[in-house]
Amino acid sequence: MSAPAAGHTPDATPEEDWAGWLPGQDWPAWVPDPTWRRVAVCAAHPDDEVLGVGGTLALLSGAGVEVELVAVTDGDASHPGSTVLSPAQLAVARVAESGHALRALCAGSTRTTRLGLPDGRVAEHEAGLGVALAAAFAGVDAVLTTWSGDGHPDHEAVGRAAVAAGARAGVPVWQYPVWTWHWAVPGDPRVPWERAHRVDLPPSVQDAKAAAIACFRTQVAPLGPDPADAVVLPPEFLAHSARPTEVLWT
Ligand SMILES: [Zn+2]
Repeated sequence: MSAPAAGHTPDATPEEDWAGWLPGQDWPAWVPDPTWRRVAVCAAHPDDEVLGVGGTLALLSGAGVEVELVAVTDGDASHPGSTVLSPAQLAVARVAESGHALRALCAGSTRTTRLGLPDGRVAEHEAGLGVALAAAFAGVDAVLTTWSGDGHPDHEAVGRAAVAAGARAGVPVWQYPVWTWHWAVPGDPRVPWERAHRVDLPPSVQDAKAAAIACFRTQVAPLGPDPADAVVLPPEFLAHSARPTEVLWT
């Protein structure tokens, strides 16, 4: 996810609000095409892919689909002014965390393409990102990406670029919300619920997702006592990713 830090603002929507509303939505189940052999998941920052669709990735991998992570940034801007880790050290740590998390989720074949764009400034590189994504989508049967309306500039730039590149390549693109669960409210008119599909996660997949999220140690715990080293993903935000359902839309 990366900065701005979720959960620190008083207007964050608590997971109990979503838990009271999501089960009543009769959205269709998201069913992967049985012919799919390779699916790409685009992450603006190391952790988006797990917070948003970690369970879906585990289910795809379990069905024999190769998962390809397209990591747009290395997440070096999550702790500006940190007294513990420099941005370069943070990037190294976060890339390693993402690798551990992907292995926790996907028993089958995975691969990772790192694009190395600057964390927080993806939109400035959107044209080049589109070219890189088009290349990464070669041979891919479907794409999952952060949503172009997710409320974080990097998430939105990746979503726009992925949708455009997928359209040019003739590959179906599904978008997943991350930040949305923080700022939106149930039934929020700013969110395209009418296009939503649900992925129900069995308990074993929920456990694998929890283990994967725990791999992101630089994000789920403070780096140190200095305010610049505060936790990025507090428990109230992580609660959104602990629910038994993931949501995607076109
Ligand atoms: Zn992110």
